[in-house]
Amino acid sequence: MELTWWGTAGFRIRTGTDVFLIDPYLTRNPAARPVQPLKSADVAEAGAIFLTHGHFDHILDAPAIASRTGARVYTDPVAAQSLIRMGLAADRIETVTEDGRTFDFGAFQAQAHFSLHVRFDTPLVIRTLARSLTRIRRLTRMLKDYPCGQVLSWRFLVEGRAVHHFGSAGSTPDELLQLARRPTDVLLAPLQGHSRITAIALEYVRALRPRIVIPHHHDDFYPTISQMVDPGPFAAQAPMASPGTQVLVPEMNQPLIL
Ligand SMILES: [Zn+2]
Repeated sequence: MELTWWGTAGFRIRTGTDVFLIDPYLTRNPAARPVQPLKSADVAEAGAIFLTHGHFDHILDAPAIASRTGARVYTDPVAAQSLIRMGLAADRIETVTEDGRTFDFGAFQAQAHFSLHVRFDTPLVIRTLARSLTRIRRLTRMLKDYPCGQVLSWRFLVEGRAVHHFGSAGSTPDELLQLARRPTDVLLAPLQGHSRITAIALEYVRALRPRIVIPHHHDDFYPTISQMVDPGPFAAQAPMASPGTQVLVPEMNQPLIL
């Protein structure tokens, strides 16, 4: 399979002639780093779009991409309402209301698991506030306009391998224990939203013991609301948390062949 990170929690996965997208968010403000030259109008191909939750940095470009490509969107009912408000036709959306719901696409399978959002902690909120009061007002408005809804993690079976994507890192130890009953080949682990995010993401690695872990969401996608997180410490410590786990730090828009 070919897996391409689009920045933030966004991925494009190609298997054979099938292409699907996870949290395909491409809109940036001018200060965002790294620069994402790709726009939703550049996305020509997608059969399905899977969303992890309703926040703007996960769903903002989904209506335009779905309308352009004809992809169906798989998401929870709260994010579905935001998508409809943004102009996406309701009959293009498949809502997930049941933990473990599985969708079979022939070339691959997708299974939704109920998960949780990382809790923005006080040190992080204070640092973000200190950067800009105006921006924090904008963030508050965006969080209100794009409510989180039920967070979903997505487990894909592609070419005989399990790829598990988390859009936010709020999973409980019990949730991870349940998921660890089945092997994870490729873990897509988010590094954003908490001042101790490296340690939190390492818990995912320790619990799921993936063959490969790919960190994401560490880019500064919407300064000054977001912050750049150095994936270096995570990359250095992941093999200690799970001996044998290989870390691949992705380059934006550069396909990885797995
Ligand atoms: Zn979020």
